[in-house]
Amino acid sequence: MSAPAAHACGTYAAYQRHRKRGEQPCDPCKQANTAYARDRRTRSEVRRDDALAGAARRRAYRRLADAHPAEFRRLYVEETIRGHAQSA
Ligand SMILES: [Zn+2]
Repeated sequence: MSAPAAHACGTYAAYQRHRKRGEQPCDPCKQANTAYARDRRTRSEVRRDDALAGAARRRAYRRLADAHPAEFRRLYVEETIRGHAQSA
């Protein structure tokens, strides 16, 4: 009698187990690996897009502050006071 499999076929872990054993992964495991790779790619693309958007936002704030320094200082002081009031 064989020990029960730690990971059922059709999971990324089972795909890795096939590879470690030098086996040809079965179709459900191949599909799970494809889905895993796609998900990882999507997540890293989302992270990169978020980082680019954040950098663009900071550059836009800087340019806005440079174009309207007095207005920016006034808003900055207002928000600083508001922040202190909220945290008190
Ligand atoms: Zn499998």
